[in-house]
Amino acid sequence: MAQEFTRQQVAALEKRYDFKTAKSLGQNFVTDPSVTEGIIEAAGAGPKDLVIEIGPGLGVITSKAAANCGRLVAIEIDKKLLPILAETVGWQPNVKILNEDILQADLAKIVEEESVLPDGSKAENVRLIGNLPYYITTPILNKLMALPDLFTSLTVMVQKEVAEKMMAAPGAKNYGPLSIHVQYFCEIEYIMDVPKEVFLPQPKVDSSVLTLHVRKEPAVQVADEALFFETVKAGFSQRRKTLSNSLTGVRGKDRDTVVKALEDTGIDPKRRAETLSLQEFADVANRLA
Ligand code: SAM
Repeated sequence: MAQEFTRQQVAALEKRYDFKTAKSLGQNFVTDPSVTEGIIEAAGAGPKDLVIEIGPGLGVITSKAAANCGRLVAIEIDKKLLPILAETVGWQPNVKILNEDILQADLAKIVEEESVLPDGSKAENVRLIGNLPYYITTPILNKLMALPDLFTSLTVMVQKEVAEKMMAAPGAKNYGPLSIHVQYFCEIEYIMDVPKEVFLPQPKVDSSVLTLHVRKEPAVQVADEALFFETVKAGFSQRRKTLSNSLTGVRGKDRDTVVKALEDTGIDPKRRAETLSLQEFADVANRLA
């Protein structure tokens, strides 16, 4: 049976191993079993699924998630957590811990190598799960969004502010490249907010859990995906500028070409990037292509 990780049990486990949490590694452990269960339920992994977990920490989510899925591979950077994980999840034969940096890890290779379930069959879905280390949330999300085909879904706990950015709609203050990147590849399901008091040690801000369901086809059709993202990036790199200015130079296009592309798609060149929907960004990028 997977053990419970209440506040007292997390503190006792750390004490027994003389483990000191490292702020520099974003170590804030979940100490509320109902939150852990909410994350696992949201991930929706079944016995035919492979789960990849980012940052298992003490194994709070790992051990319960492994009880529900076919196989679980967790990637943890901190060597000092390995003996603790050996105790908390080492007894579960379908769990493997990789002592690696998620930003360096070859995820495609890991998924390919680890997709065989204990019964010899191939995993039907690969689901990612993780209470992400806050100091590298954006690079992790960027890495994951560059590999959209690898996963069926990604259930992540992130700072509330980052979750809001991911969900933001055109016109909102926090709408930007992250919103567009995630919404292009995934349908976002908001799961819950998690107050900071739930973690040990307590971080400064609240968190939210989201499940990103990877779309079979991106949200909008683009002729050249790289150009679409270049257009988005250029648009937001100078938020205050009008589109006719901020998009000049994308793929070497001069101002007249940009203005014409905007007008041809029915977009006023004086508008700013933060007002454009995904479809409008796609239309402009397709014209520029
Ligand atoms: N899953 C545990 C939980 O919810 O209690 C721990 C979550 S804690 C917010 C983030 C975890 O990610 C820590 O265990 C930390 O050591 C690990 N971590 C930090 N940087 C990492 C990296 N670059 N690669 C892999 N794991 C990392």
